[in-house]
Amino acid sequence: TLLALSLTCVTFTSFTTPPPKEPIEKRVEALLAKMTLEEKAGQLNFVVGEMFNTGPTANASQLTKINESIKKGEITGLFNTHGAEYIGKLQRIAVKESRLGIPLLIGADIIHGFKTIFPIPLGESASWDLAAIENGARVAALESTAGGINLTFAPMVDITRDSRWGRTAEGAGEDPYLGSLIAAARVKGFQGKDLADPRTMAACVKHFVAYGAAEAGRDYNTTDVSEYLLRDVYLPPFKAALDAGSATLMSSFNELNGVPATGNMFTMQQILRKEWGFTGAVISDWQNITEMVHHGYSKDHAQAAEQALKAGTDVDMMGDAYLRYIPELVKSGKLDQKVLDESVRRVLWLKFKLGLFDKPELYSDTKREKKEIRSKENLAAAFDMARKSIVLLKNQGNVLPLTANVKRIAVIGPLGNNKADMNGTWSFFGEEQHAVSFLEGIRKYAKGAEVTYAQGCDLYTNSTALFAEAVAAAQKADVVIMAIGESAVMNGEGASRADIGLPGNQLDLVKEIHKTGKPIVALVSSGRALELNWLDQNIPAILATWSLGSEAGNAAASVLFGEYNPAGKLPLSFPRAVGQLPLYYNHKSTGRMYDGNHSEPGSERVYKSRYRDVPNTPLYPFGYGLSYTTFSYGKPTLSKSSMSGNETLTITVDVTNTGKVAGEEVVQLYIRDLVGSTARPVKQLKKFQKLSFKPGEKKTVTFTLNAADLSFWRQDMTFGAEPGDFKVMVGGNSRDVQELPFTLTSL
Ligand code: BGC
Repeated sequence: TLLALSLTCVTFTSFTTPPPKEPIEKRVEALLAKMTLEEKAGQLNFVVGEMFNTGPTANASQLTKINESIKKGEITGLFNTHGAEYIGKLQRIAVKESRLGIPLLIGADIIHGFKTIFPIPLGESASWDLAAIENGARVAALESTAGGINLTFAPMVDITRDSRWGRTAEGAGEDPYLGSLIAAARVKGFQGKDLADPRTMAACVKHFVAYGAAEAGRDYNTTDVSEYLLRDVYLPPFKAALDAGSATLMSSFNELNGVPATGNMFTMQQILRKEWGFTGAVISDWQNITEMVHHGYSKDHAQAAEQALKAGTDVDMMGDAYLRYIPELVKSGKLDQKVLDESVRRVLWLKFKLGLFDKPELYSDTKREKKEIRSKENLAAAFDMARKSIVLLKNQGNVLPLTANVKRIAVIGPLGNNKADMNGTWSFFGEEQHAVSFLEGIRKYAKGAEVTYAQGCDLYTNSTALFAEAVAAAQKADVVIMAIGESAVMNGEGASRADIGLPGNQLDLVKEIHKTGKPIVALVSSGRALELNWLDQNIPAILATWSLGSEAGNAAASVLFGEYNPAGKLPLSFPRAVGQLPLYYNHKSTGRMYDGNHSEPGSERVYKSRYRDVPNTPLYPFGYGLSYTTFSYGKPTLSKSSMSGNETLTITVDVTNTGKVAGEEVVQLYIRDLVGSTARPVKQLKKFQKLSFKPGEKKTVTFTLNAADLSFWRQDMTFGAEPGDFKVMVGGNSRDVQELPFTLTSL
């Protein structure tokens, strides 16, 4: 390593400075004092790299343009570009050829892996395995920092209760508690212990805030969210990510309660800066500063720049408004120079903190890049994470795992022999040829069994031309594995859907195959909760396989053949019908609870809050997921039936593996606060433990609760618990729980 280091340093000696003695704050001030207004504006201007117009593959005039901008100090950095050699060159231009020698931020959407692709974040969240999730982010950082990247636009922590929203795929689902733990785990994985370590990168928690509350689940749509809901549900994962040290934050596209998030003084100044004391840089989302004009909030780009900077959006991503208008805004007195300086300070601070001024060469390390990318260890971690993400939704008659009696397997469906869609949304650095398809994985694991393949239909259209071939393949098989669901572009940014069933005519294909009478196992891939009623009623075995990443096929096969016992649990509710959305387990009760209790006939239909055609409940509830073994829960007990505000309550429950194979179970604890100054949800996840059990093994599981766990935003907008009666509930999902009452006597 030393040799490699010194060799790399030879290339860069010219800008390697002696170790700094001054504290960062002093170095920032010294640099700031030298800067012109234009250079300050340049430090707040972030532009995209090779994906669109620059990078190693760009033509000469594009490269010249970007090099000139760097020399002039017009950009603070580039994003969505990479490559140690190329980034090294750019950093050298910045450090050696610009007037002040300020290195570049190199950002990228490293959302679920760089070259080794992990499952989409929603999939990873189904593992409920915080250590594995943290490790996934660490692997992404190891690979991408070797390629020159020092900032990731992740984690995406937007809570969503509406799976029509395409970006459901990028988050952790519907629960603020699980979402907060996952947000913190990801930040720790990306940032490690020390940002100055060149194998770590700055995180950028996004999108602030309530972006996932888009009306009708349509991406970028307006949001209108009460302050209670904002504080109880949408804000906690952001707070958790910042408490875990997230160096930066991204503002969101949406208008929130009348004011675009990027210019929103209440969320950005009052909450983020004042209440939470966040001192890191806020980065806008793509052009969302200038989009304040489209929102009907700013009259032109100059005013948008002024409003966004005043609200505390420090960096302009792709808007060009800061670079163009900040100098003039300051000169004309519309913008206080102090406001500008504060934003520049935050950006410079980050660059110092990342060690970019002291050892930029370590971020562009071609040797490390070769060694790190798609290493054996990284692929093993992706395989492990992919298996952990799979959720067994149904397994009637124990069709799974497949046994040695299965001699002929037909893999059918548009996602069967498909590499392109395995990586999923936001994986543009991961080359698709490296992904293992389901067919490849199944062939590898099938040992002596014969495996045939028929596509059956494509992902989008309604042609039935390939049905007959698929039916024939099914007829010859002992079992059919159907690989169906969404392509990678059917979820993610801008990819909302009004119908969340299987796209195209995939369901018709399943129905045709079903007529053969062969047992069917469905591998259903998606970046959201899908509507799977027919499948649930007719198909014996269903696995949720999200987009599993580089190791998709191996992970699915490992589960299908019983090498790995699935243990994933849903991080969001699966509806019975799209019309139920928004749908979430931690909903409120309504006043209209009565089945009768009214003199007129048929009154129950009038008085209960419900649909006439579909039950209120989800098809598969939050926290749900089966195993190849079974678990039985004993009667839970409480250490006492009441506690005061400074006491702790202990909940104990025996959980036993009652089946014949080893397995893991996520034991979940929920509470309900029966009466609140603002009405409380019927259930809220407060604790969980993921435990492994040998066959027959019994474990006594213990949880503790205190007043902090019972806290919420009370009617007077203070945060805390309220004395009164509660229920505590324990079980293996949010529906099948056993409950016990307790009382909080005082605070
Ligand atoms: C997305 C962000 C992303 C950015 C840069 C935007 O369109 O909303 O999540 O980080 O692009 O790629």
